[in-house]
Amino acid sequence: MSTEQAYFFTAALINLVLAFSGTRIKDPEGKQRSVLFFIIAFSANFLSWFLYVFDIGTTLKIASAVLSSAFIWGMVVFSYKRCECPLPRTLLSIIFLINCFALGYFTYADQLYNALHVSALFVPLAFCIMSYLFLNVKTHRNPSDVILAYTCLFMAIVVASRSLLLTFTPELFSATIISSQIIWPAFSVVSGVFALLSFTEEAQSKLQQESNTDQLTGLANRRSMDNILEKEWARANRHQRPLAVVMLDVDFFKDYNDHYGHQAGDNCLQRVADVLLKSVQRAGEVAARYGGEEFLLILPDTDESTARQTAEKICASIAEFQIPHQYSPLEIITLSAGVAALSNQNYKNIEELLLAADSALYQAKRNGRNQTQVASNNTE
Ligand code: GH3
Ligand code: MG
Ligand code: MG
Repeated sequence: MSTEQAYFFTAALINLVLAFSGTRIKDPEGKQRSVLFFIIAFSANFLSWFLYVFDIGTTLKIASAVLSSAFIWGMVVFSYKRCECPLPRTLLSIIFLINCFALGYFTYADQLYNALHVSALFVPLAFCIMSYLFLNVKTHRNPSDVILAYTCLFMAIVVASRSLLLTFTPELFSATIISSQIIWPAFSVVSGVFALLSFTEEAQSKLQQESNTDQLTGLANRRSMDNILEKEWARANRHQRPLAVVMLDVDFFKDYNDHYGHQAGDNCLQRVADVLLKSVQRAGEVAARYGGEEFLLILPDTDESTARQTAEKICASIAEFQIPHQYSPLEIITLSAGVAALSNQNYKNIEELLLAADSALYQAKRNGRNQTQVASNNTE
């Protein structure tokens, strides 16, 4: 095997491995089948390089040219599907056919320069489309998508400038062929790897998001709440800043559930959660579902009286909804709240702070519900 054949074989293998890697990735649920086109594109590119391992004649050279176009446009179709953008099927098919025909013709006529100029027209077009889709159309864009988009832009510039350069200085052909031989396999690796990494990045952040979110209400769940509280506690102590927590509980919710049904109960919790979400506007503020029908607000840099006002506003908003609750004295859904604030390091640990908020909440319940109470033990 000559050095050149070894090179073609290596480039082919790179694409084969990437095509195979595509089979290990699943499209996100309910999404279009983008991975299939990734696999098709890289398989085509594998074959396109692999044919050159042999001493091929004109027919196979044309086949290789068509396969390399299939790689480029296959990746464009992949990008449309991956970015969930409607595929302009007819237009893309026409462009692909013209690309294949022109490239095939000049390969057949052994007009290497013209074949090169044809590529310099279609390849940048395809890569600019890909780049546009990943940078402007795809929702939840992640760093891998951005790397892929800029790699495509870079390749578009390289391919176009090579063609321009050779138009004016054809004697540079052999000098540019070496750089082109390095750049194409490198492009396969970068585009293939980051296109696939984008799927895992997406899955990772979705998992992380799900593991920190309460399914019913969309608020932070208990796990996430504990982590945030720990961080805010440490920050408040380090900088001697205030930190307040508000514990809220739906009044007579068991009766509501028993009489209106579990579904109505769930809807009610969602409405409460919406109000809580709207009330945590400042950076660092968090609303969490503490458990069942109990919620917790974490309010960094907030003193006791501001936290109290926030809690009172929330209770008033819920009461304003006038959600009918025949089995509560006011005949509507109401909330009770307990506030505890860390100032002058009056609590030794998070548990004490939470316990104080819980006791204040209990006091609010005992005092008749639909009200806010502040923890008394806060001026040591
Ligand atoms: P109080 O005014 O003293 O708070 O009385 P309560 O009836 O609200 O208190 P209790 O803690 O006894 O009742 C809580 C009820 O919340 C029990 C359960 O039926 C209901 N609950 C807990 N989690 C959910 C949930 O996810 N969905 C629904 N629909 N109900 C829930
Ligand atoms: Mg309750
Ligand atoms: Mg409760």
